[in-house]
Amino acid sequence: KKPVIAIDGYSSTGKSSISKVIADQLGLIHMDTGALYRGVTWYALQHCLDEKGNIDLKALFASLDQIELEFKNNDGTLVLFLNQTDISKEIRSNEVSDHVSVVAKQKEVRDFLLQSQRSLAEKGGVIMDGRDIGTVVLPKADYKFFLTASIDERTNRRFLELKGLGIEADKEQVKQNLIERDKIDSEREIAPLKQADDAIVIDNSTLSKEETIQLMLSYIQK
Ligand code: C5P
Repeated sequence: KKPVIAIDGYSSTGKSSISKVIADQLGLIHMDTGALYRGVTWYALQHCLDEKGNIDLKALFASLDQIELEFKNNDGTLVLFLNQTDISKEIRSNEVSDHVSVVAKQKEVRDFLLQSQRSLAEKGGVIMDGRDIGTVVLPKADYKFFLTASIDERTNRRFLELKGLGIEADKEQVKQNLIERDKIDSEREIAPLKQADDAIVIDNSTLSKEETIQLMLSYIQK
């Protein structure tokens, strides 16, 4: 039977890109759960703003049933669609990054996204990355990893990722966004970002993506 693998950790530790490679190698389905929270945030920024231009959370909660998020396979890359529109680039914008953690700490939003995450893993053969996968979404996962790295290393990685997507960014702002998100994600009441007791912790500050993958595979294939 194919395994269920949970990967959690701080922002920009490489969780998603690493999960994608491991999924390809082991023939698993990969779900980037952060993309779901980003998708809800993108919807809120389009449809649920108050007069001051802030996200109106009550309006968002009332509109959750209008949101249909779906991953579609485009040549091996999973692309996120919101109500039939490709939003894979929009969800990486600075605007979304600046608001996502406040949206993600709301119980209504987390409940809304929980079921689709859990049902994907029911048949096994899944690797899921996020902040609460090993602790809340898939507490019985076969393997749990928790990734961490120094803030400067993570800043560089996010900066390069954004550059690759053609998104303008200021390094200091990228760093502040990572610090702020990690703080909100770790301190929230529901499903905070933390290591599961049985997670394998990997600090990949001085490891390449490939080295991190090899280390993780060495645990899985033992
Ligand atoms: O993984 P990514 O950095 O794209 O996640 C964006 C945000 O979504 C996180 O900072 C966090 O606020 C939220 N998130 C979450 N639970 C998850 C995945 C992401 O709260 N499982």
